[in-house]
Amino acid sequence: MMTEKEIALKLKPCPFCGSKEIKTELYHGDIKLSCMRCNIFILNPKPWYDWNTRPIEDFIRLELSAARAERDNNRALANGLEDERDRLREALRAKNLKSEI
Ligand SMILES: [Zn+2]
Repeated sequence: MMTEKEIALKLKPCPFCGSKEIKTELYHGDIKLSCMRCNIFILNPKPWYDWNTRPIEDFIRLELSAARAERDNNRALANGLEDERDRLREALRAKNLKSEI
């Protein structure tokens, strides 16, 4: 079982206002987590798990990661094409042909 301090240290900021000031307290036998800035709260047997569950953010991070990988791949392809274009231009110049590439 995690201590209250350990739980508090692992809590993500408030999903609504971004505040890191999250109050943990016992409330009628359950644990209650409250944002000290905007006062939203969660109350159930696993509040820290639910508080830290961010399915939309996790999905967006996954999509962003995939988009960045695709961007990096496209940059590598573009660099390869530019190198090939430069090589072809140089070959054309060497043959005294006009480059229209
Ligand atoms: Zn808040």
